[in-house]
Amino acid sequence: MDLGIKGKWALVGGASKGLGWGCARALALEGVNVVMVARGAEALNQSVADLQKEAPGVTLIGVAADITTEAGRAALFSAPGGPGKDFDIVVTNAGGPPPGDFRNWDREAWIKAVDANMLTPIELIRATVDGMAARGFGRVVNITSSAVKSPIDILGLSNGARSGLTGFVAGTSRSSQLAGRNVTINNLLPGTFETARLASNFKAAAQRQGVDAEQLIEKRLASRPAHRFGRPEEFGRTCAYLCSVHAGYINGQSIGVDGGQAL
Ligand code: NAP
Repeated sequence: MDLGIKGKWALVGGASKGLGWGCARALALEGVNVVMVARGAEALNQSVADLQKEAPGVTLIGVAADITTEAGRAALFSAPGGPGKDFDIVVTNAGGPPPGDFRNWDREAWIKAVDANMLTPIELIRATVDGMAARGFGRVVNITSSAVKSPIDILGLSNGARSGLTGFVAGTSRSSQLAGRNVTINNLLPGTFETARLASNFKAAAQRQGVDAEQLIEKRLASRPAHRFGRPEEFGRTCAYLCSVHAGYINGQSIGVDGGQAL
């Protein structure tokens, strides 16, 4: 299927690895030019170079910046050769907050989580959607978490911040100034995906519990309906479809990509 988005410009946060990388790759393979953002320049430059080989016809721009800061967002909006704020597609994504016990989280921990996982996507939306509406096409996809629908106790910071974003999107996406101008905003809720973050989470949990990481992985797989973890590539393809011309009537939704894990 031709997704009809060849030549458009996308911004993808957290794009050097994992789910963001999957989205950047799927969009680039559809002929979309992509500004890819991550903090670590080395991994980012490598990902951009690798993807450029797979998708030689598109423009890929790596911006090494912290997307959760004002300065980082200013850098990506002024990237040489990029579209400024005139993105057609925005995929919001950054690292998730740490797990823990809510008794140990002070105001600063909460502000950091809300800043990264609620206010950053809102700032990116604020900067881009009116331009999309003026041009008559726009797609925003927020990478959140299946924990929004199936909250986990130790992920309180993530549950709280991402639920706030979900509420904001539920209202804003239905504004006639956006929905009526072919601009959609949706959330994609990953379940358990094979990424660097997942591997480090298992390693840390295994150390805490004094068990082997392989054992924990096997136990988790057995508890999953699909008996496997998701792959960033398939997450990316789902994202690219939501960004396509064919998905204009999917709006304001929180869509699980979790192998049937969450209700
Ligand atoms: P990952 O493999 O660790 O990749 C994260 C990417 O984001 C990297 O490119 C990282 O590069 C970049 N990044 C992190 N913080 C950033 C920041 N402040 N500014 C710019 N780039 C930043 O993580 P992932 O598994 O793809 O997870 C992506 C998101 O989905 C996270 O919010 C995570 O909580 C959520 N999620 C993931 C899963 C899963 O199973 N993987 C499940 C539910 C929710 P740098 O570190 O170099 O910046």
